Amino acid sequence: MTAEMHPQRWGTPDAATVLPDSALGLVDLAFGLQDSPAVTGATPPRIALDESLLDGLRAIVGDAHVLVDDATRTLRTRGKSTPDLLRARAGDLTDAPDAVVRPSGHDEVATLLAWATEHRVAVVPFGGGTCVTGGLAARRDGFAGLVSLDLVRMKRLLDVDMVSMTATLEPGLRGPEAEALLAGHGLTLGHYPQSFEHASIGGFAATRSSGQSSAGYGRFDAMVVALTAATPTGTMTVGSSPANAAGPDLRQLLLGSEGAFGVITSVTVRVRRAPAETSYEGWRWPSFAAGSDAMRTLAQAGLLPTVIRLSDESETAINLADPAAIGGSGDGCLMITGYEGTAAQVASRRAEVTTVLTELGGVPLGAEPGEKWSHGRFGAPYLRDALLDHGVLVETLETATFWSRRERLYADVKAALTSSLGEGSLVLCHVSHVYETGCSLYFTVAARQGDDPIAQWQVAKAAASDAMIAAGATITHHHAVGTDHRPWFAREIGEVGVRVLRAVKAELDPAGILNPGVLIP
Ligand SMILES: Cc1cc2nc3c(=O)[nH]c(=O)nc-3n(C[C@H](O)[C@H](O)[C@H](O)COP(=O)(O)OP(=O)(O)OC[C@H]3O[C@@H](n4cnc5c(N)ncnc54)[C@H](O)[C@@H]3O)c2cc1C
Repeated sequence: MTAEMHPQRWGTPDAATVLPDSALGLVDLAFGLQDSPAVTGATPPRIALDESLLDGLRAIVGDAHVLVDDATRTLRTRGKSTPDLLRARAGDLTDAPDAVVRPSGHDEVATLLAWATEHRVAVVPFGGGTCVTGGLAARRDGFAGLVSLDLVRMKRLLDVDMVSMTATLEPGLRGPEAEALLAGHGLTLGHYPQSFEHASIGGFAATRSSGQSSAGYGRFDAMVVALTAATPTGTMTVGSSPANAAGPDLRQLLLGSEGAFGVITSVTVRVRRAPAETSYEGWRWPSFAAGSDAMRTLAQAGLLPTVIRLSDESETAINLADPAAIGGSGDGCLMITGYEGTAAQVASRRAEVTTVLTELGGVPLGAEPGEKWSHGRFGAPYLRDALLDHGVLVETLETATFWSRRERLYADVKAALTSSLGEGSLVLCHVSHVYETGCSLYFTVAARQGDDPIAQWQVAKAAASDAMIAAGATITHHHAVGTDHRPWFAREIGEVGVRVLRAVKAELDPAGILNPGVLIP
């Protein structure tokens, strides 16, 4: 069984970290140290499901797989956004499910959904629990109860097609588990979001996730060639061929559906041969604009490395602590480039990229910054907890737009966050994913926590979200909609778009038991 994350922090309990003394001084200087102890011993509310309904669940999945103990219900309460962590630390378990149900496969999931429809029980599919947009905090009003449908027992590699280079995976596999199974065949998926250690295959599909190597391997939705979902009104299997003209692509109805249309029970993905060689390095750019232009040039020339990311001046300064370290002038922006593949592929793409970046004015910094990034690539969420321990509000948000609007989007979102969080706050940004036509911007903020840090963040996030929509950008490039983004999502897709989604929901889930209040405006 997968190691469980700490209910109030990112990662398993043994992975918790503290700020080193050297950092404590800097944090004190920037924000002022405050103690922020977490509540222990909080218990979830009374179980709303009566014994006959619990027996109904037991009849489907077996007694051992219907869990109603406080500890398990606590572990399935919400996701891992900063507001989620702050609520958990405050002992707020109001969103706890009544029971956690663990089906063994597709047929049990289908039976569970039919049963839940008949008995009006809300169902929240649970993959890795790393959601950061409120997608695991479904509404329960009007329902007999709410269960977390935990996919933790569905972890098989169902098929590998070495001729077509595809693999079919069950949804409960976490990132490392899927990679380990594929490695047994010399393969990789190449999907490495920052949440890789705990997020699941089904979650990647349900949220249209994007990994840190998206320039080389593509977004998760681009890797999916077929999937199967159990819905309350039947099983949907989509993806018959590598490409086709058979009407609208119904895969796209399930990808990003966030558990509102059905439970994804298997995913067939395109796979690649595991890279024989990897190489990461750093570049210095005089400004965020110059580095972004270089990324655009590479993308439009079809010359992207496997990994490419660019920090703005503020993020560069914080990451390196000493900005002079990246060029002696005390300013500039750090770009990370990474290459994966055979030795020949790595050498030739690296040579092509190096030529272009050098011509555009980039300064090569060698392997050290790249290796440092590679080693620390999953580390930031642990640091967030350590900062929360000391009363610093840390959170992230992300968006995407076309290249021609990048500068305005960056300026407007940064201004919205800075003015909302006030003097002394830090607003950092990097370009996290690039395409021929545009890129995504990922913001990290840090500020001294006020009396109500959740409200403090909600005001800042609303201001940033308004700025995104006003700039013609998306409300989310890869974190998905959940409950948090719904108002802005409605503005993004317009009234007809909202009607289409509601119609699909009504067809697949007429009783509305699946993730009530999530995704659909
Ligand atoms: C520290 C941190 C870093 C992150 N970094 C990234 C990143 O780099 N890139 C990125 O894309 N995202 C990132 N995320 C967001 C999150 O990891 C992704 O959205 C991820 O895809 C969620 O997967 P999960 O298995 O944890 O899903 P969960 O959190 O369990 O669920 C997410 C949503 O999908 C639904 N769902 C889950 N499984 C299924 C299924 N099988 N069928 C139907 N619906 C389902 C849930 O009901 C919920 O609405 C990050 C999150 C954190 C906390």
